[in-house]
This record gives sequence, C-alpha cells and structure tokens, in this order.
Amino acid sequence: MPLKDGRSICLYQDPESTAKSIAQFSQHDAKAYVEMYHTFKQYTDLFLGPATYERAHPTFEGLVKMQSSELGRQITAYSEKTPKTIVNDIFENEHVRSLILYAACMWGLDYDLEGLGYLVPLMINRATNYRLSVGGSHRLSHVLSKVVYDNGGMILGSQLIKRIIVENGAACGVELEDGTVYEADFVASTIDPYQTFLNYVGESNLSNDFVRRTKQYKWEASSLLGVHMALEQAPNFAAAEKNPDVNKAFIHFVGCETQDELIKHWDLLKRGEVGDVGFNCTFPSVHDPSQAPPGRHTGLISQHAPYRLHGNPENWYRERQEWAERLINTLGQYAPNINEHNLLWRYVSTPVDIENKFLDMKEGSYKQGGYYPLQMGFFRPNEECSRHLTPVKNLYLCGASSFSGGLVLFGPAYNGANAIAEDQGFEKWWREPESVARAKSLGLL
Ligand SMILES: Cc1cc2nc3c(=O)[nH]c(=O)nc-3n(C[C@H](O)[C@H](O)[C@H](O)COP(=O)(O)OP(=O)(O)OC[C@H]3O[C@@H](n4cnc5c(N)ncnc54)[C@H](O)[C@@H]3O)c2cc1C
Repeated sequence: MPLKDGRSICLYQDPESTAKSIAQFSQHDAKAYVEMYHTFKQYTDLFLGPATYERAHPTFEGLVKMQSSELGRQITAYSEKTPKTIVNDIFENEHVRSLILYAACMWGLDYDLEGLGYLVPLMINRATNYRLSVGGSHRLSHVLSKVVYDNGGMILGSQLIKRIIVENGAACGVELEDGTVYEADFVASTIDPYQTFLNYVGESNLSNDFVRRTKQYKWEASSLLGVHMALEQAPNFAAAEKNPDVNKAFIHFVGCETQDELIKHWDLLKRGEVGDVGFNCTFPSVHDPSQAPPGRHTGLISQHAPYRLHGNPENWYRERQEWAERLINTLGQYAPNINEHNLLWRYVSTPVDIENKFLDMKEGSYKQGGYYPLQMGFFRPNEECSRHLTPVKNLYLCGASSFSGGLVLFGPAYNGANAIAEDQGFEKWWREPESVARAKSLGLL
C-alpha cells in the first residue's frame, strides 16, 4: 500500500518482514500483526481452509462441532463480530486499519456485517497467499478441459440451454435452444439458482416454498470496475524510492489511505455512487513476463463499483471511459510513469459487462450471489441445495452459488463431485485432501 507521502506498508509472506514495514507507523500494530498472522494461519490451516472442501454440515450439527473444541469456539466468536470491529480491535493506526480491512473485504464481504466474521481470518490469510497462473488465468481452464478430453469427456461451448428435462420429479437430461437433447443419468448445474430452477427446471416442477426461497436469493451489493492496460513500461511507484519492494508487490492497494476514506467509498457504493477512488491493481507481466511482448507490460485496475450507477446500470455505457480515466489518473499519483505516454491500450470492463458476458453473474455479481449470513455455509444458496443435491432428484448444484461459495477455489465443484459419486454409486478416482483428513481426525470437521 503506497502512500502519497512516499511511505508504504508492505504485506510480505514472511510476517516478520511485514512487521518491520508496519513498525514505521506503529510498534503496537507491528507486534499485533505477527500475533494475528500466526493465529489466523492456524485457523486457516486447521479448519477454515479444509472446510472449503467438505460438504456443508447442517447448522445445528456444525455449531455443536465448533463448540466442542477450543479452536472452534475461538472461530465462532469471530463470526459474531463485523470485519471492521475485528480489524479495529487488533490495530490502532489508520493506514494499517485501512489496508487490513481492505484485505478482509476486497472479495465482497461487507465491512459492517455481523455473522460472517469467521471469513475475516481466511481472507486476511489469503492476502499474503495469492497465486498467479503462468501464462494467464485462461491456462487453468485449458488444462482442466484437457483432463476432460483425456478422459473421454466433451465440452460444448457457446450453447444456450432451453430446459433441464425433468420426468417424474427427476432430472434426466438437457435440451439446448436449437432443440438438441442430451439424455443423462444426472445433471450438474454450475450456474445460479434463478436460472437453474426458475428458467430451466420450471416452477411447475417445484414446490411453492422452494420457488419462494429461490426468489429470495440475493446478488452481491457491489460489483467490479476493471481497467485492463497494455503498458510500455512496468509501473515505478514513488514509494519504491524508500522501499524498492513496492515495485515487486503482487497487488497494490491505492487511493484510500485511511479507514475513514475506505468506508466512505464503500458506503457510497451502497447508494449507487463512486466517490474518491480507491482500488487494487496488479501488473501480471512483472511476475510472469510471458504475459506481454518482450519488455512490455500488462496491468489491471480493479475497483469495487455499484451495478446501478446513479440508480441506473445504463449509466455505465455513458461514463465508463470517464471512470477509467479517473482510476488511471489516481494510479499516476502513486506511480508517475503511468501516464498517456506509457499507456498503449486499455479495455474497460464495467459491472454491466460482467453481467453481459456471464449470465450467471447477474448484476455483475462475480461470486454468483452475495455473501450474507442467510446464504452462506449450510444456507448457500438455501438449506435444500447446499449439499449439492437439490429437491429435483438427480439434479445437482455445483457452482459458486452453492457451498463453499465463489472465487477460484474449486470448493463447490469438488464437494459436488463427492455428492454425485456417493449418490450415483461411482468410484471416486480422487483422494481427499490431506488437510481435510487432518481436520476430521482433530474432530473439527
Ligand atoms: C472481473 C472478475 C474478476 C475476478 N477475479 C477473481 C480473482 O482474481 N480470483 C478469484 O479467485 N476469483 C475471481 N473472480 C471470481 C471467480 O471468477 C468466480 O467466483 C468463479 O469463476 C465462479 O466459478 P463457477 O464455475 O461457479 O462459475 P463461472 O465461472 O461463472 O462459470 C459458469 C459458466 O456457465 C456459463 N453460463 C451461465 N449461464 C448459462 C446459461 N444459461 N447457458 C449456458 N451457459 C451458461 C457462463 O458463461 C460460465 O462460463 C472474479 C470474477 C470476475 C467477474
């Protein structure tokens, strides 16, 4: 996190190096960071990480398990607090509070929401453990598709579904818009519950209660505005003069130097506005030169943004370039060589573009639905589908709208595959992750 006065706070994978960086601002916070790091790492390694790859436990059963160990009781105590309270109970300095709260909430957790505080240790732990796909994220999907083909599977791209065929209360295939029918023993849907149930299964095949529950599912309160950049040179941050590591950071958080500024920014989003600019940005080619022509660079600015800009998503079509300009100018205040001479090309992606590109990310909801207590854990997307089998026999929900939620974690698909294999009597050819087995042996899962 570079500051306008040339100082910076750097989060390193090594907590002691982070502490040295934080100590410029507060000795108290430097010490508190190291303690927090080890505590949150333990929560993540022993429980929060493995819980991603284990089907959701019914609420009461989950609570009893959590209350039966010291670690479970500690994590449960966090759940009741808001992210802001958790961060402010630990840290005293405004800059540190801003950075750590951003790290906790950058993937769409509301800073002021009670009930999901257990995600804060997980998100803060992730902040120093991000990964980049060499060659770009698309490589990951290509590799996965190779595995499908190697095993006799087939992928049909750019196909719209007309309906999920349901006979006698059970899913038995899919019909495409062009009339092609694929018969199947089961159907696994990785799209959202609205499309899966209301559009494709049809209300006539569902109970009134379930239809009502599906309609209660909420999209995310805010989305993302992205500016993709092709650059002549890598950014040179002014703060790198004092600490050259700033130029080597994987993610830079700029523009909201105090927690008050950050909260003002998030509060404005709730009203469909964007105020002072604060965002994260990353320059993948600095870490993976294969992502740009020799000597050139790529960059991505990513800012939380409302879907209904000034009350109407259409405003994004009118204002997208203006906002991109503001973001780039703000970045230029921290990295002066990000300017019109250096910028070779840019592509702006608004919340409306996300919705247009991905039908399951309605309103730019990039995790296929918000993180709210009533649609997380055993309730994601609702208590009848979180363990992947749905009220329609042989129909499974396995995308980000089901447990364990969004981001590129493979949790819902892995848990869904386990549910399908067990129900349909397939032999599993995959092994349980060691961390899950350990959490079970400790009685935590
Ligand atoms: C701009 C942006 C940046 C992100 N950055 C990150 C990041 O850095 N790290 C991270 O971990 N996560 C990130 N995410 C979140 C992550 O991409 C999602 O949580 C994840 O892709 C969800 O995976 P999924 O398989 O459940 O759904 P998806 O990846 O959305 O897959 C669903 C697929 O189904 C298709 N589909 C939808 N409806 C239909 C239909 N009716 N008929 C046919 N096909 C349909 C969609 O086109 C899509 O291909 C980002 C998301 C966005 C939008």
